[in-house]
Amino acid sequence: MGKRIGVFGGTFNPIHIGHLMIAEIATQTLGLDYTLFIPAHVPPHKACDIAPAEARYEMTRLAIADNDKFKISDIELRRDGPSYTVDTIHSLKKLYEAGTAFYFICGTDSIRDLPTWKYNKELLQEVYFIGATRPDGSAVIDDTIAYFGDLGRQKIYRLVVPELEVSGTDLRQRIRQGKTVRYIVPDLVIQYIEAHGLYR
Ligand code: ATP
Repeated sequence: MGKRIGVFGGTFNPIHIGHLMIAEIATQTLGLDYTLFIPAHVPPHKACDIAPAEARYEMTRLAIADNDKFKISDIELRRDGPSYTVDTIHSLKKLYEAGTAFYFICGTDSIRDLPTWKYNKELLQEVYFIGATRPDGSAVIDDTIAYFGDLGRQKIYRLVVPELEVSGTDLRQRIRQGKTVRYIVPDLVIQYIEAHGLYR
């Protein structure tokens, strides 16, 4: 049987326990061989408050180093510009054996936005879309599944996860204010942020 691979894209600015938790639960619940973390290319005009690509890559690498079911890919960072997710999936499919199944993992905000994504139907033809949703938060994902009809019912899965009210935006603000982010961000990532003076 072909491999089953999780695909988890994000700015990871910085990576935090909310990301790690949903990737871990998705990997185990769906019995994935592993999950690929894919830091996104961020266009320069949006780059205010966004750490350089190599820093976001390195923080992600450090955060997942102790989990042998997590891997990292620089496939989006090596591109000149931002990528549509469907293009990333097409590139991945060329790199992996035919028969590999891809599971695109995302949080509630991305599930809500999926109906507005360019090439979203093409994306759903190519991958299973794994929507992490808190135990009582099914409305958002139900709306998205209904929007896509049969395709949604076949390709969008609901993954129940505990809710962690953590966001990159809040973390960057905390760091700027000199407040602790210990236990929200892995220790190695905190050390990297401090050593490189990020988000000050
Ligand atoms: P920012 O505030 O900088 O936008 P973010 O963490 O929401 O930060 P991304 O790094 O792009 O942004 O998120 C990557 C993916 O992780 C998205 O699918 C998002 O929905 C999901 N995600 C982010 N934070 C959480 C969280 N606390 N719990 C579950 N999923 C999350």
